[in-house]
Amino acid sequence: MLICQTCAVEHAEAVAVCAICADERQWVPATGQAWTTLNELAAAGHRVGVRELEPDLYGITAEPKVGIGQQAHLVRTPAGNLLWDPVGYLDEDAVREVGRLGTVAAIVASHPHMFGVQVEWSRALGDPPIFVSEADLSWVARPDPAIRPWAGKLDVLPGLTLVQLGGHFPGSAVAHWAAGAGGNGVLFGGDTIQSNPDRATVTFMRSYPNRIPLSAAVVDRLTRGVEGLAFDRLYDNFGRTIDTDARAAVRRSADRYIGWVRGDFDHLT
Ligand SMILES: [Zn+2]
Ligand SMILES: [Zn+2]
Repeated sequence: MLICQTCAVEHAEAVAVCAICADERQWVPATGQAWTTLNELAAAGHRVGVRELEPDLYGITAEPKVGIGQQAHLVRTPAGNLLWDPVGYLDEDAVREVGRLGTVAAIVASHPHMFGVQVEWSRALGDPPIFVSEADLSWVARPDPAIRPWAGKLDVLPGLTLVQLGGHFPGSAVAHWAAGAGGNGVLFGGDTIQSNPDRATVTFMRSYPNRIPLSAAVVDRLTRGVEGLAFDRLYDNFGRTIDTDARAAVRRSADRYIGWVRGDFDHLT
């Protein structure tokens, strides 16, 4: 198993260039494609940090970061735990730490940039299913029997629902956790709905590193797709959070975005 150094997505075998990084939504470094392994990352001093974000929710990061450097989330439920957007590194300590928080019953990446070493995590945690959006299945570079295609909407665990909104990738999904934020609801936005550094607004893009926007119609569709979900807090996959009133923040941000791409504010440019 090889790990792409730029995105940290696992590959069953070496290819000339990682397809995820060669795509217009990511990037290949000027020095060219580079691969690494779990052993090399361990020897370089990487470890996994697990910290509580709120009751029954933990953030998991590789330190120093690997690849895109996301923060994974572990959500605890009485029926088992969800590992969301798994990081591209693990070791025995990480598996022990995550196992101490309960049984992982499902692994889900919001979209291909966040696949990380999802198969490695599944194998280390007793082979829980890895749900991959059917529309993005072709991006899987390490096939495994644990991978289960899904589409549309999926109640992955009691109180945890996956919603395929599309946008960033056709299969891009968000996860809704009804019991989160003290029962007011949490949305895990992935790169589908990403929070901004101001902690008050979000954005929606085809490519974040290469700054390719989505259309007004798509942003409106994404926003309508979460309007029926009750949530007060939004976590993206880089440790940024909109703590309260997140659903209204999504609508307000979408209206601003749509106004800008429609030309409403051209007089300001
Ligand atoms: Zn890559
Ligand atoms: Zn992405």
